Amino acid sequence: MAEQAQASDTSPRPIVPFLKLTPKPHLVGSKCVSCGAVYLDLKRLACSKCFAHGPFPEVKLSDHGKVYVFSVVHQSFPGIKTPYVTAIVDLPEGVSVRSTLVDISPEELQKNPKTAFDLPVELTTSVVAKDREGHDVIGFAYKPCKH
Ligand SMILES: [Zn+2]
Repeated sequence: MAEQAQASDTSPRPIVPFLKLTPKPHLVGSKCVSCGAVYLDLKRLACSKCFAHGPFPEVKLSDHGKVYVFSVVHQSFPGIKTPYVTAIVDLPEGVSVRSTLVDISPEELQKNPKTAFDLPVELTTSVVAKDREGHDVIGFAYKPCKH
């Protein structure tokens, strides 16, 4: 049993490259040095707004955003619990992030869809899987702000 405990590096891994786990979980984007446009794509070669050439520096994105649009998903892949809420969240940096909304009732949202538009939300992370080497895989979602 002791051998298993000291198996190589088992630190958690983010599910997407633009999710960083330290010092606390946050998203990063790349920022055009010419016009300031921000993209979730970290390997972007050129800015689609001003056509400046990259690579662009990585910037930390805000943990908070607002729901731009959402939909309640009733059918998904086997093993994925439904219904759940998927949304596009606008961040203050001008980036739109497609993500799941958690801590919110899909049924309530369908009854009162207007309550979700512009809803302030914050980033949250959780372990969504384990990879073949035994690392926890960390996914992200957004949940309504408590304040
Ligand atoms: Zn630009």
